[in-house]
Amino acid sequence: MNEEKAKKSLSGSFLRMTLIPLIVMILVVVVAAGNLFTIALQREVRKELYNAASQIKVTYDTVYPGSYQMVENPNVTTSTGENLLIFAKGNQILSEHYDLIDGFHRETGLEASFFAKVNETECYRVLTTIADIKGNRIVGTGAHPKIVSDVVINAHEAFYTNATINGISYFAYYMPIEAEDGTIFGMIGIARQASDVKATVYAILIPGLIICLLGLLVASFVSLRYSGSILKTLKKMEQFLQQVSKGNLNANLDSAVSGRRDEIGTMARAAITMESSLRDLVEKDALTNLYNRRYGNQKITKVWAEANRTGVPFAVAIGDVDFFKKVNDTYGHECGDEVLKMVARILEENMPRGGTVMRWGGEEFLMIFEGFTKETAARQLEEIIRIIGNNEVIYERKVVRVTMTVGVTDGDASSNADEVISVADNALYEGKQSGRNRVVVS
Ligand code: GH3
Ligand code: MG
Ligand code: MG
Repeated sequence: MNEEKAKKSLSGSFLRMTLIPLIVMILVVVVAAGNLFTIALQREVRKELYNAASQIKVTYDTVYPGSYQMVENPNVTTSTGENLLIFAKGNQILSEHYDLIDGFHRETGLEASFFAKVNETECYRVLTTIADIKGNRIVGTGAHPKIVSDVVINAHEAFYTNATINGISYFAYYMPIEAEDGTIFGMIGIARQASDVKATVYAILIPGLIICLLGLLVASFVSLRYSGSILKTLKKMEQFLQQVSKGNLNANLDSAVSGRRDEIGTMARAAITMESSLRDLVEKDALTNLYNRRYGNQKITKVWAEANRTGVPFAVAIGDVDFFKKVNDTYGHECGDEVLKMVARILEENMPRGGTVMRWGGEEFLMIFEGFTKETAARQLEEIIRIIGNNEVIYERKVVRVTMTVGVTDGDASSNADEVISVADNALYEGKQSGRNRVVVS
């Protein structure tokens, strides 16, 4: 259960490793791009509104030459008894003259207004394309005092990215206009609805965001695929190590894992080496480097079962160094060890194909001959004990020679592995009794 959890969190870590930097990067790019784009767009809008204001100014100057002025309308009187002031340029009354300004609005989609200055803080619309919800033009409405101060009082153009007109948010540009005597008459205001501009920003940012999200999806997919393959490899390694830790020192690790050229491959090869070192520790004898008794027991049981299944014969022999105690007593235990190593080396070097030798006890060796009968094995053993007898160990300038007695029998003739050993042991005993340095077949 815990392991399952660990595996999940590992693939989660891979995913986080890929996605977190990517998401951060996308956020940074989107915010930075959005801001830069908005700034660039505002600059463009400002230029557009400036051009529009200039165009209107020039057009009105051309079509209606003369000074901007407010003239009295003799036909209309206000509540205070004065004649109403109406907007005019040169000889032309412009109030209610909407052809030019409406044409401009149709062509450009921009809103345009003329403002006339009343006093140092007030300016009101005298001509406009902007209508309220009922469709009435908002002539007579004032400009924000800040705009009046910026444009009319300071006689300077100004651009606002958040001007609210009639409850709607606009990008607005205001250009002062002068009367003939050079005093500021009022201003021309050009506005574009902020929602138009925002729609343009979104029209560009949203596809960008969608592309980023698709990129994220692809990155997650690739990360999952990649981490999936690594996790599969790690899983194989884990199973291998679990088998080894349970004592199976013949467990195999997929060569696709140990063949990897990355750290996992290095780890896998180290694990295989560890398995083989463990196997040596468990199965081998430290003095002679032959297989040990533990391995011998497993081997004879396996070979006996195999022979019973296939009918292929095998022979088993036990060899024992003659008068070995005497070697120890005469030359010392260390010399005895050298002799044992010499005997082990000769046995190993002279094992035929199908033959395995193991150190069975102190100076006793078990030999298994697969595919041999006791007679064919005996011929090999005669030769081997001849070689042992002809060899010598030089220890402290003294020549030490030993002989070996062997008992050999047919392994497949007995009803189990223990019985095979016991029969071979009896033959060995017989050999000891009858003079040593011989092979006894039983
Ligand atoms: P036999 O011909 O009847 O086999 O006589 P033996 O002296 O070889 O037999 P015995 O069983 O009396 O003595 C075997 C000796 O082998 C006794 C033991 O101390 C010695 N021995 C066992 N293992 C080792 C070893 O690893 N190193 C050394 N040097 N001696 C060992
Ligand atoms: Mg012995
Ligand atoms: Mg002996």
